Amino acid sequence: MNIQLLSHTKFSQLAAQWVAIGMNASAGGDFVGVIDTSLLRGELRVRESMRKHVSWRAGGTAEYFYLPADLHDLALFLSQLPRTEQVWMIGLGSNLLVRDGGLRGVVVALHARLNDLLLIEQDQAGGLIYAGAGVPCAKLARFAALHHLAGAEFLAGIPGTVGGALAMNAGCYGAETWQIVDKVRTIDRAGELHERNPEDYIIDYRHISLKQEPESVGKEEWFAGGWFRLAQGDQDISRQKIKALLTARIHSQPLNFPNAGSVFRNPTGDYAARLIEASGLKGYCVGGAMVSTKHANFVINNGDATAADIEAVIAMMSNAVKERIGIELIREVRIIGDARRNRE
Ligand SMILES: Cc1cc2nc3c(=O)[nH]c(=O)nc-3n(C[C@H](O)[C@H](O)[C@H](O)COP(=O)(O)OP(=O)(O)OC[C@H]3O[C@@H](n4cnc5c(N)ncnc54)[C@H](O)[C@@H]3O)c2cc1C
Repeated sequence: MNIQLLSHTKFSQLAAQWVAIGMNASAGGDFVGVIDTSLLRGELRVRESMRKHVSWRAGGTAEYFYLPADLHDLALFLSQLPRTEQVWMIGLGSNLLVRDGGLRGVVVALHARLNDLLLIEQDQAGGLIYAGAGVPCAKLARFAALHHLAGAEFLAGIPGTVGGALAMNAGCYGAETWQIVDKVRTIDRAGELHERNPEDYIIDYRHISLKQEPESVGKEEWFAGGWFRLAQGDQDISRQKIKALLTARIHSQPLNFPNAGSVFRNPTGDYAARLIEASGLKGYCVGGAMVSTKHANFVINNGDATAADIEAVIAMMSNAVKERIGIELIREVRIIGDARRNRE
């Protein structure tokens, strides 16, 4: 193994730690030894618990976890990373379950890292805002309101990042992220930046894919930021809308327990929550995971749930609705990682 310890970098400290704890090649992460760390300014962590990075507060560890200093640093990191190393780009983990066996490869967390938030132009008709992928959606909603721009209020209720909202086409109350996208900036596996238009994508309910390469979003290419086109509005009206939306959420969602929002997409013309409730599953538990009694499309962590508990409850919800009502629900939350604890 070719580990060159380069002085005064977080990478070199990590490489030393890596040797000290005796990780071997089969544990992956050979890239720590082969990439030139001298120009990287981000923070690399080893065996990072993903519990603190996902809103369910459950699940396994990431083999490697990288916090880029900024977009340039992310590009440098990706450009050097061996193609064999799996990359998991995440935002605030509010739509994510990492299985208890954890993740091989490197998780790259963008929250608060790619955090540019700029008013690019504004006239009487409206304005254009650029937001980096790591900006929280709520911050973008408030920023738009502050500048008297209307149409981003719905984002205030989505507890994820701009990158996550672009990847999921997040939405609520009749609005969706891609309705206000002017164009996006993406970054690929080689660290190359691209600008793409909405026409380059197939835009579906809670799903986005590139027309040319349907599998690439989230695997080979990620969102680094987006330009959002908004109509001229009124600050007070936008603020009132945001307040009303947040109040409605407090009343309808179990926000005092860790959760990941709606587990399943709503089928056309119906609500997943209604179907799950009609299947008699409100309050159904496995270990520390439970179908919320407040909102049946939410699974809450009562405190000590494992990812396996949560996944078992999700499987039961899906099976019960299929058997009792005959409808196949489509999962909205993303489940990733290994089921077994095979490296701890
Ligand atoms: C209480 C609660 C309420 C919610 N309400 C809503 C709602 O009303 N509407 C709604 O749509 N969702 C809702 N969600 C779900 C979630 O907040 C959204 O899906 C959100 O967009 C996820 O953003 P994130 O940054 O947390 O993404 P993560 O959970 O970190 O990632 C989600 C997926 O997106 C991918 N991804 C993340 N960042 C990038 C990137 N930069 N480029 C490419 N891929 C990326 C990840 O790899 C993963 O596959 C709710 C969740 C909670 C906990």
